[in-house]
Amino acid sequence: MNEFDLIQSYFNWEITDPSIELGVGDDAALFTLNPGHQLVTSTDTLVEGIHFFKDASPRDIAYKSLAVNLSDIAAMGATAKCYTLSLTIPELDKGWLKDFSSSLKESSKLFNVHLIGGDTTKGPLNISITMMGSIEINNPIKRSGAKDGDDIYVSGELGSAALCLKKIKKGEIPLESDLNALNRPIPHLELGSALKNLASSCIDVSDGLEQDLSHILKSSGVGAIIDTQELPLSDSVMHYVKDTNDWSLPLCGGDDYELCFTAGKSKRDKISAISESLGSRVTRIGEINSQKKLEVVGYTGPRTSYQHF
Ligand code: ADP
Ligand code: MG
Repeated sequence: MNEFDLIQSYFNWEITDPSIELGVGDDAALFTLNPGHQLVTSTDTLVEGIHFFKDASPRDIAYKSLAVNLSDIAAMGATAKCYTLSLTIPELDKGWLKDFSSSLKESSKLFNVHLIGGDTTKGPLNISITMMGSIEINNPIKRSGAKDGDDIYVSGELGSAALCLKKIKKGEIPLESDLNALNRPIPHLELGSALKNLASSCIDVSDGLEQDLSHILKSSGVGAIIDTQELPLSDSVMHYVKDTNDWSLPLCGGDDYELCFTAGKSKRDKISAISESLGSRVTRIGEINSQKKLEVVGYTGPRTSYQHF
């Protein structure tokens, strides 16, 4: 099997979206956006040994590669449409490719996105996806819109993926729910879309709440106060924090893929209604102020937000 057979066998499935004129197989793909819409695009790369363990299941790797990219599109309030896949693999392992591609296909169906092209090379395992989506012109939720007095919210629960990773590294067996948080994060596409015209800023929490909220603060030229007692935690993270008084997992642990967003106080009822109608937990964790720094009430211990360099 050569490179072209590989692409044909594992990465060329039917595209059902009529606005995608050309997918895998030509020099480039072609698709059309609805009138009045902007292209929203984002790339995320997963590297063996950094983003997943050497023996990670190809099914989980495929799912997560897609989910982390969708999370960025969700944080803009946009709708995801299609993506390209840049795949670097150490060898042509048919079993691995079959599992990876079937999981990618299933996950694409689940999130209604289409694989339209990519690149395939040989080397250390590396999966890079560029996701493309759309949003009405002038409607994206940027990091730069937070205002003095806005509420700060976060979706879901924080720290479960980081707790799972910590347990695995210590040779302990993590809870299944924490393992799911690490391997199967759920991109909050519906919540992101519902927050258009409502949230003043938004970011997806991939490198730790503190660091990611700080990006909003810097872009918006504001500060904030958040309270550790308000942070939404799973039972297992709550137990861990009670036992250790270590808030670094929910504050700085990576891989949450929750949305952190801000909105004016007048939007509280609307945000509660959205949370209820989507069945998505949304928690108010603090407030934007004009201090130009992030104050965290209830924790002064070490900070470990993820940085590559
Ligand atoms: P070129 O040499 O013109 O860049 P390639 O041989 O890299 O073409 O790719 C041939 C076709 O297969 C292109 O349409 C490309 O987008 C697609 N493709 C290559 N690798 C992948 C992949 N891993 N997943 C999906 N499509 C791919
Ligand atoms: Mg190429």
